[in-house]
Amino acid sequence: MRINPVANDYNLRRLYFTIFLQIKQNGMLNFKKRKENESEMTRIDWRLEVEKRKDVLLAETQEFLKINSVFDEATITKERPFGNGIDQALSYLLNKAESYDFTVKNLDGYAGKIELGTGEESVGILCHIDVVPAGEGWTSPPFSADIRNGRIYARGAIDNKGPTMAAFFALCLVKELKLPLTKRVQLILGTDEERGWRCVDHYFKHEEMPTVGFAPDADFPIIHAEKGIADVLFEWTVEQGAAAALTLRKFSAGERLNMVPDRAIAELEGERAELDQLERRFRKHLLEQQHNGEAIFTGDEQLTLMYEGVAAHGSTPEAGINAGVELAAFLTPFSFQEQAVSYLRMITALLKNGTRGEALGIAQEDQVSGRLTVNGSLFSWDEKEAGFGLNIRYPVTADGQTCLQRLEQKMSEFGAKMMVKDHMTPSYVDAKHPLVRTLQAVYQRQTGEEPSLLSTGGGTYARTLATGVAFGPLFPGRKDVAHQKDEYIEIEDLLKAAALYAEAIYELAGGQ
Ligand SMILES: [Zn+2]
Repeated sequence: MRINPVANDYNLRRLYFTIFLQIKQNGMLNFKKRKENESEMTRIDWRLEVEKRKDVLLAETQEFLKINSVFDEATITKERPFGNGIDQALSYLLNKAESYDFTVKNLDGYAGKIELGTGEESVGILCHIDVVPAGEGWTSPPFSADIRNGRIYARGAIDNKGPTMAAFFALCLVKELKLPLTKRVQLILGTDEERGWRCVDHYFKHEEMPTVGFAPDADFPIIHAEKGIADVLFEWTVEQGAAAALTLRKFSAGERLNMVPDRAIAELEGERAELDQLERRFRKHLLEQQHNGEAIFTGDEQLTLMYEGVAAHGSTPEAGINAGVELAAFLTPFSFQEQAVSYLRMITALLKNGTRGEALGIAQEDQVSGRLTVNGSLFSWDEKEAGFGLNIRYPVTADGQTCLQRLEQKMSEFGAKMMVKDHMTPSYVDAKHPLVRTLQAVYQRQTGEEPSLLSTGGGTYARTLATGVAFGPLFPGRKDVAHQKDEYIEIEDLLKAAALYAEAIYELAGGQ
C-alpha cells in the first residue's frame, strides 16, 4: 500500500499515540491474555498423542520386559560388569535409540545415555533397567510380559523397565513432534539400582550432572524431600565378669540394617529351677503380649528362647515390632552375668520406648519431612564381643554430622566404639523451585488431581541427582507390586506416565 507522505506522517503519529495509550491503559493485560489464549490454542494434547502411538509403546515395552535383566555373577566380564542380561537390556534400548537418531553412549556397560537437543543446560531423567530376581509363584512366566486384565505382567514392569519405556517413548514423542528445545534432555539408564548403585557412581564420575532432573522410580505426584540416612554400628569387647545364677551365652536379632528384626534368639544356661521359672514367665509374657515365640530346652541346663516380632522397613520402624528390643527388655530383670545385664539394659533403655531417638538424644523433626526415626537392628552378643546397629533417618533440614556426633557422645557413655557404615545426606528441592513448580503444573493439567508434594524416609534413585525429584510412576491409590511375584504395570498408567513425561520434558527443556 502506498501512502501519501504527509498524511502518512500524521497517521503514523496518531497510530503511535493510540498504541501508547492502549499499552498505558490496559495494553499489557491484553497482551498477556493473548499469550495465554495462544498457548491454549497450540497446547498439545499429550494423552492423545500417546494414544495414537499406543501399539508401538506396548509392543516395545513387552519386548524390553522379555529380556531377563537380573544381575548375573556367572557372566560378568570387563565390558559386562553386571552380566549378560543387563548388558542385553542396555544394548536393546541404546540400539533402538540410535536407530531413531538419538545421540547415545554406553558408559562401559555401567550405564547408558540417550540425548536429545542442544544447549548449555540439561534435563536428566534417571531410570534403571536392572531388576530384582523373579522369585517363585508367578501366574505367567516373569519374563513373558503377558497382557491380562489391562496390565502387563513381568518382573520389572513397574520397577523400573516399564517406566523407563514410558520416559523413552516421551522423549521420542517430543522429537517426533519436532518441538523446539533450548536445553539438552538426557535419559540416563542405570544398571545397578537394585544392588549397589555402582552404575550412577560410574556415570557421574565420567558424565556431567544434569542441571535439573527427575527419576520415574517411586510415586506420583512428586517426592521432593528425602531424609538423610545413616547406618551406624557399635561394638564392644566383652570381658569376663563374675558368674551369676543365669548365663547369657548368645543373643542375636536382625539380618539387615534397614529392616526391623522380626526374630530374636537368646541362648541361656543356668540351674534347671531358674530356667524353668524363666521359661514359665516367657510363655506367660508371650500370651499377654499375644506374640509368637518358642522356648526349647536344648539340654538339662540349656534353654533357647525365640521371640517373633513384626518386620517392617527401616524407614518406618514404628510399623513393626522389634524382636531384638522386645526380647532384650524381657530378659533384663533376670540375674545374668553383669556384662550381659548391661548390654540388655542398654538396648532396653535406648530403644524400648519409641523409635524417634529421644533416649539417644537425637530426636528432631521438621515440617517438610517429619520426624527422625531410629531402627535398632543387627543385635549380637556373645561372651567375647557385642554389638548392635542403627539405621537412622533424619529430617532434610537437620545437620547429619551434628546428629552423628551427638550419638557418638551418647554411646561413649556405654563404652561403645562407633562406626558409620554408610551415610547418605538428605535430598531436598524447595517447593518453590521451578523444577517442582513445572512438574506440579504438568501433573495438575493432565490428571486434574492435586499435585501434592511428598517426602520420604526411603531413598529413591532421585537422590543421586544434584537437583532432582521422584516423579511417578505409581499413581496415588495404586498397589505397589515392585519386587513381588506377579509384578505388573496398569497399561492405563503406562500411557498416562508417558504423556506426563513428554509434557514434563517439553516444559523443562523447551523454556527459556
Ligand atoms: Zn527401582
